[in-house]
Amino acid sequence: MNKIIVAIDGHSSCGKSTMAKWLAKEVGYIYVDTGAMYRTITLFAIRNGLIQSKTGHDSSSVEIDEEQLKTKLQDVEIGFVLDPKTKLPLACLNGEIVEDQIRGMEVSSMVSPIAALPFVREKLTMQQKQMGEKKGIVMDGRDIGTAVFPQAELKVFVTASAEVRAMRRFKELQEKGEQNVDFDEILKNVQERDYIDSHREISPLKQADDALVLDNSNLTKDEQNKMLLDMFNQAINK
Ligand code: C5P
Repeated sequence: MNKIIVAIDGHSSCGKSTMAKWLAKEVGYIYVDTGAMYRTITLFAIRNGLIQSKTGHDSSSVEIDEEQLKTKLQDVEIGFVLDPKTKLPLACLNGEIVEDQIRGMEVSSMVSPIAALPFVREKLTMQQKQMGEKKGIVMDGRDIGTAVFPQAELKVFVTASAEVRAMRRFKELQEKGEQNVDFDEILKNVQERDYIDSHREISPLKQADDALVLDNSNLTKDEQNKMLLDMFNQAINK
């Protein structure tokens, strides 16, 4: 059967990755979480002292040593390995699995300013285009339908209210046992990331003209998965 590219974009913490993973498994496609790639570069910058937050968990007040980061990134390998048990991709930084380290509040609060840097976007966009050369891929992010695969056969733009998204993230972090989670701080982080992601100069988060909108504020997981699968079946039968 002919294979297509599925581009899933949308706001932070709206469940894009969960539904993208589900669809990929359901239809036997490769799944790529591009947010994980931006998060991995952010972890690299933090570990190397190339990004500092001046006021705790706050995206608006970070300082980045751009020159050093640009030079060091040339030798950095960002990728994925498949978890042998779940068969899901785990983010890797120079071969080290960093899936857990990239999901905490520290990386979340610094990732959007890193993702706004042109040389970071250039490196990752190039890699993502290569990953989709053979099609049969579900990729989620912010600019997949607009910049990475403007030719994708199916583009979905996922959204939900900021409060609903923050509450989902709050519960997720609590379940993972992250200490000191504060709902207001998470809501602020979600809103700040929306703002930075939608206002950056290069590849801002925006709905592609031909994207189908999926607002899941009031949908159960099963309902949203069904909608997504219907969209996929329509696209593949076009
Ligand atoms: O999807 P996730 O929330 O993990 O993404 C983390 C951050 O990475 C986003 O807030 C955004 O700043 C950045 N990102 C991006 N372009 C993508 C995917 C993620 O700028 N394609």
